[in-house]
Amino acid sequence: MTELSNRNNNGLGSSLRNLLGADMVITDHAEKAGFCRDWMGDVTSDAVAVLRPRSTAEVSKVVMTCRNLGLSIIPQGGNTGLVLGGIPDHPSNQVIISLGRMNRIRSIDINDFSAVVDAGCVLTTVKDAVAEQGMIFPLALGAQGSCQIGGNVSTNAGGLNVLRYGMTRDLVLGLEVVLPDGNILEGLSSLRKDNRGIDLKQLFIGAEGTLGIVTGVSIKLMPAPDQIETALLGVGSLESAVALYRRARRDCCDLMSAFEFMPPMALSLAKEAMPDLDMPIAMDHPAYVLMEISASGLVNIGDLMQRFLTNVMEEGHVIDGVIASSSTQASNLWKIREGMVEGQALRGRHMRTDISVPLSRLSDFVAVAEEAVRAKLPECVAISYGHVGDGNVHLNVLPPTDASEADRTKQIDCAKKIINEVVDMFQGSISAEHGIGRLKRDDFELRLQDPQRSLLHALKNAIDPRHMFNPNSQISMSERDAANPV
Ligand SMILES: Cc1cc2nc3c(=O)[nH]c(=O)nc-3n(C[C@H](O)[C@H](O)[C@H](O)COP(=O)(O)OP(=O)(O)OC[C@H]3O[C@@H](n4cnc5c(N)ncnc54)[C@H](O)[C@@H]3O)c2cc1C
Repeated sequence: MTELSNRNNNGLGSSLRNLLGADMVITDHAEKAGFCRDWMGDVTSDAVAVLRPRSTAEVSKVVMTCRNLGLSIIPQGGNTGLVLGGIPDHPSNQVIISLGRMNRIRSIDINDFSAVVDAGCVLTTVKDAVAEQGMIFPLALGAQGSCQIGGNVSTNAGGLNVLRYGMTRDLVLGLEVVLPDGNILEGLSSLRKDNRGIDLKQLFIGAEGTLGIVTGVSIKLMPAPDQIETALLGVGSLESAVALYRRARRDCCDLMSAFEFMPPMALSLAKEAMPDLDMPIAMDHPAYVLMEISASGLVNIGDLMQRFLTNVMEEGHVIDGVIASSSTQASNLWKIREGMVEGQALRGRHMRTDISVPLSRLSDFVAVAEEAVRAKLPECVAISYGHVGDGNVHLNVLPPTDASEADRTKQIDCAKKIINEVVDMFQGSISAEHGIGRLKRDDFELRLQDPQRSLLHALKNAIDPRHMFNPNSQISMSERDAANPV
């Protein structure tokens, strides 16, 4: 656990209150606390103040005020990020701008299959609002009850439905962004096709708040599926799960919306977190697949799932399986996936990864990486699960529950080194979906080619020459690297 604290911020706090109004500025330590702690509780920080604008114009005013006071800005959404990008690392000259009060659904247009929402809308609020109009916004992740659409855009979040609908980037039609000079880039278009030169919104998707503050988002909607089939399947190995995925891609006509793999330990961890959870399948298969297909319209999804499973069971690809016969049963199956993550958290601080490798190398990667962890850290447990279709695996390492904090830190550092080396061997990515933040910055920079590094520095200097926005997140830039501020 790391703690950073802030001293002597009283003068700056009262300047902010005078310039912005007391209602927008939080300086009370207890009130700031929730904004200054990361979601996992691994790091507690502080800030000069937490600023809570209610409109795009107020965000712009806040940015110009901070610029005049020489303060750096950490944009914050729901604070569910997992890479320490949304909390300060230099509390004495950094403010958090929280988007939580910008939570209006601006418009929903079912004829255009689009909606425009404030960046501070919680993801479930957006999903619920469009569901009332018979549509879906298909981004789905465990943190959806807290994370905000602006945070999703800024991290280019992935989640459970990427294999069918893509990452957040694929779901964004337009953005409104407050730039570091306070100007507003207005781009809330609902056009599906617009090839007028370089697509500037792409610069802010996945930028993790280093280039500006996203204040509004125009998103794609799809007709809500009225048929959803969910199955939990026991398979012989991760390799069989990958083979099953390839088969399902062909046989299910690209109607698959999720295909998750889990080891048997996932079921035990889910039980630890949710002792009342029903386990509708034997808990000792070598691997499990949680699969969902869905559609709206005239396709008979129930028949498709039945025929697919009959075939793959006859051919021996699947050992055992259950299909949910109601939405309650389906949500029970998904609870296993959620409970597994909670079960890991209950075992204390641990090493979490977010890796992608080419699909064809997924099972080899997991075998090699888990073996490497076992060889060096026999006292720890390695658990791999993830989104098969995206080649995205969360290979986590859990220290023994009674490990001291000091031992945990050593084990986590060691596990990270081991796993990153294997990722490099397999030409994979150390961040498939969570981003870089401050947690993965050094490992990211180590792996940058010179032209990549130069371009990233040039972009930062062009858009944020004073390095005012989320400094030292994603890339570290010294004073020497700063462009002449304008
Ligand atoms: C239980 C759990 C499950 C998760 N599952 C997934 C998953 O399946 N897939 C996945 O991709 N991620 C997942 N995450 C990670 C996290 O939820 C996502 O990264 C999410 O998109 C972060 O949104 P947020 O609003 O909480 O952003 P925050 O945590 O507040 O911020 C994240 C980053 O974005 C910046 N930022 C936030 N809002 C803005 C804005 N309006 N303008 C500019 N910059 C901004 C911040 O400065 C920070 O760098 C999970 C997290 C948890 C806790």
